[in-house]
Amino acid sequence: MIKTKAYAAQSATTPLAPFDIERRRPRADDVQIEILWCGVCHSDLHTARNEWKNTMYPSVPGHEIVGRVVAVGPQVGSFKVGDLAAVGCLIDSCGHCASCREGLENYCDNGWVGTYNGPSTGGENTYGGYSQTIVVKESFVLRIRHDAAQLAAVAPLLCAGITTYSPLRHWGAGPGKTVGIVGLGGLGHMGVKIARAMGAEVVLFTSSPGKVDDGLRLGAHRVCVSSDGNRMAQFAGKLDLIVDTVAASHSLDALLALLARDGTLVLVGAPENPHPSPSPFSLIFRRRQLAGSLIGGVPETQEMLDFCAEHRIVSDIETIPMDYINTAYERMLRSDVKYRFVIDMSSLR
Ligand code: NAP
Ligand code: ZN
Repeated sequence: MIKTKAYAAQSATTPLAPFDIERRRPRADDVQIEILWCGVCHSDLHTARNEWKNTMYPSVPGHEIVGRVVAVGPQVGSFKVGDLAAVGCLIDSCGHCASCREGLENYCDNGWVGTYNGPSTGGENTYGGYSQTIVVKESFVLRIRHDAAQLAAVAPLLCAGITTYSPLRHWGAGPGKTVGIVGLGGLGHMGVKIARAMGAEVVLFTSSPGKVDDGLRLGAHRVCVSSDGNRMAQFAGKLDLIVDTVAASHSLDALLALLARDGTLVLVGAPENPHPSPSPFSLIFRRRQLAGSLIGGVPETQEMLDFCAEHRIVSDIETIPMDYINTAYERMLRSDVKYRFVIDMSSLR
């Protein structure tokens, strides 16, 4: 086994602190990656604090992982020692169900294995990217085509990027479509950048009046502060697709009212407490749809990384040392992050 320094929460109420874990020695088809940077997702916080009521402790979060390959098993064909490599939210799945055969491992019928907190169906714990090194099956390792100098800002693409890219692609964001992004945090700012690059007309809805200028700078054509009822009314019935990234429970009726006929509101935010059920009339009129979307499969994650490299898209980040993580969580809860914390893992060595 490989002794590895990490940061873990030991319970829902204890702060994250240093903790030693062990990684398996690379098997024939494994890649071992020295982790250089790891993004901080709001899901890390939900998990560390058991907000989804399924956390296994000790909990080592982190699923926006980029680093350098330091060892490969003899059957590994597409990575060699010294390559840059990335790992997102998934490290395994059954491989044979209909979803896995379509490259939708994130919807594996038999339960995929999360980079942290183990199999989605329950089972042995897994430890994520708040650690020095990780060993992952080659088929779940992603290739990075951005400049090495941008590595820290690439890390958030592995969750925030794919989680917004996937529904934007699935529901056809592009020229002639008006797309709303709700919430300008880690996911939301990637959603704005990616929807703009796909050619859609982009409207950002934010609860923070102080983020209007940033929303425009990041690529939104228009920004609407959601507490401004008159401004919201200007967008009623105008949007084809809305991606809701908000990390807290809120009413969906005001967002559904923005959709055009046959428009879709896609929930990606996963708050601790559910949203109140929307009124059926919000859906019945204009035949609107309410949907959800979960991260993305391996092929689509690679497609997203390549799309972002081609369009020169990275995340806007604030880099932090590992021991800042508990403060970072408090700031994330106050929506005080522009727009993703990324941990410099050299601070753990
Ligand atoms: P984040 O950086 O904290 O951003 C969330 C944004 O939501 C905030 O910046 C804020 O934007 C808005 N917001 C409005 N009211 C809020 C409130 N009371 N509390 C918190 N945020 C509020 O979080 P994130 O990392 O982007 O993640 C967003 C959500 O998506 C989380 O629930 C996370 O677990 C979930 N997630 C889901 C998937 C998936 O596969 N579906 C994947 C990753 C993450 P404004 O200031 O602009 O209003
Ligand atoms: Zn995430």
